[in-house]
Amino acid sequence: MTERVDIVARYGVPREVKFCKRCTISNQRPRIVFDEEGICGACRYAEYKRSIDWEQREDELADLCQKFRKKRGYDVIVPCSGGKDGSFTAHYLKVRHAMTPLTCTWAPNVYTDIGRQNLENFIDVGGFDHVLGRANGNANRKLVRLGFERIGDPFQSFIYGQTNFPLTIAVKYDVPLLMYGENGEVEYGGDMKNAYRPTRDIEDHEKHYFSGVTPESLIESGLTERDIEAYMAPSMKEIEAVGIEIHFMGYYHFWDPQENFYYAIEHTGFQPNPLRSEGTYSKYASLDDQIDGFHYYMAYIKFGIGRATSDSAHEIRDGKITREEGIALVRRFDGEFPRRYFQVFLDYTGLTEEEFYRIVDSWRGEHIWEDRGGNRGWELKSPIWAMEEEESA
Ligand SMILES: [Zn+2]
Repeated sequence: MTERVDIVARYGVPREVKFCKRCTISNQRPRIVFDEEGICGACRYAEYKRSIDWEQREDELADLCQKFRKKRGYDVIVPCSGGKDGSFTAHYLKVRHAMTPLTCTWAPNVYTDIGRQNLENFIDVGGFDHVLGRANGNANRKLVRLGFERIGDPFQSFIYGQTNFPLTIAVKYDVPLLMYGENGEVEYGGDMKNAYRPTRDIEDHEKHYFSGVTPESLIESGLTERDIEAYMAPSMKEIEAVGIEIHFMGYYHFWDPQENFYYAIEHTGFQPNPLRSEGTYSKYASLDDQIDGFHYYMAYIKFGIGRATSDSAHEIRDGKITREEGIALVRRFDGEFPRRYFQVFLDYTGLTEEEFYRIVDSWRGEHIWEDRGGNRGWELKSPIWAMEEEESA
């Protein structure tokens, strides 16, 4: 019998699963808030977004650019993988606001062909200077495996690099303005204090992105300081010396991933995935890394929230699909096993299939899953479609 992690205690999520009345997200998403009407913070933000005076926000962006535009060198750091959102942000700042961005990417663990091609197109067709950050392969393999075993997320090391590398580049090139696409803490439901301002606090990184587990805390697991150096943030002293400010394009410009998708196709040579991403129905989001399917799969295991749940929740809020359509998509695609790159994942982490499944099962939230035995095996205790049928009965 595998010992299971207490997900409720570890992530502070409610024991009783509830779904937002407007979208498909549940209260199991860490840090999401639900109001007394049973509507999630992300849906409330989507509503608020429509009341914003976007012309005034565009003026605010012009002022910001004016403040940071320099005579020489780079004006702004834009983290961009070559995906639709970063491509839009970098290109829009360059063309509409005459900024000179330095773009940067923290490399995926194992590039997909389409991911690598999109980055090349972004640099070449979009016309951007670019820095690619990578850590040595041995250290990264260890970190991916440790993240999977210890944190239930093989993507944790990527998140360290993705969060910290742009800060390192900003310090090295002495560029104080850092511009991200959307603020996930706002668009997808988190601390609403961030909804009404353009910036975020670097102090929040540990809480928001690292689940409280920092790169340093992994040293005891056979990693050296040298191994984790590439993943580390500059010191607060260095950050303050440059005067770094992190801003979000989603504050200044109505954020619509589908619009960014069309924009990136037109201006930066972006190509959608020829294959549907496993676990969901979409072809345009997060398609750079061969092992990222396991990040989404583990969120499904821990919280019952798979990739189709997240994608459909976003699209319902953006008015692209109805809640009923969203529920049907969740029922059909959520939690689909990422089979396409399973062998790649096992080879990369050095795990056997048996070890893999043992680790997966150790992360199954007890309040989320029930082992029904026989042919049925693990089943969700309260999937959204069953809850809906119960309510309408
Ligand atoms: Zn909602």
